Amino acid sequence: MGQSDDGRVKSASIMLQVSISKIPTEGLEVDEVVNRDVLALAAEELSIADNGSFRAHVERADAGSVHVRGHLHLNTSGPCARCLAETPLLVDQELDLFFLPESEALSEYDDEEGAELQDRDLVVTFYKGDVIDLGAVVREHVLLAQPMKRLCREDCKGVCPTCGADRNLPACACPAPAKSESPFSSIALLGTVERASGKNAR
Ligand SMILES: [Zn+2]
Ligand SMILES: [Zn+2]
Repeated sequence: MGQSDDGRVKSASIMLQVSISKIPTEGLEVDEVVNRDVLALAAEELSIADNGSFRAHVERADAGSVHVRGHLHLNTSGPCARCLAETPLLVDQELDLFFLPESEALSEYDDEEGAELQDRDLVVTFYKGDVIDLGAVVREHVLLAQPMKRLCREDCKGVCPTCGADRNLPACACPAPAKSESPFSSIALLGTVERASGKNAR
């Protein structure tokens, strides 16, 4: 775990560090547990309750390139942006990745062929030395899969600005600030009216 020289976070899993020269001709099968430790995730970044998996076939291809095809499966969760309720997100992705030696980045693939590679919508990662860190790649995919704004549900009403109660529940007695099209708002309003009716007739 920890930062490497170039500032990139390295995965903690040695199993996910593939030594390219040791990949047999027929390829290498990777079947690894994915969890917080493997991904070197800080607690505040993301919650991962149980172990996920990363299965892949890794093989060497032309000009020092490495082709990785696999499947990533991981249950993640994080707080809703409005009400802070823990909101699950299943990361379930097919990965089709090409790794190229970094020297290729500056020569061959910097010209039309590079453009062609991007046209085909391939994910290309450059590696240094003899090791590709699949853990770092998996980590990146897990983080990229997370929404910019996580919502427990599309019409989450968040928390009451007055008392902090979850406004998705008909629990708080503060007056509703604005009308909503949500079918739940009438329930919330009923609660409000019932509580308020003792004091103020509406
Ligand atoms: Zn919410
Ligand atoms: Zn309230």
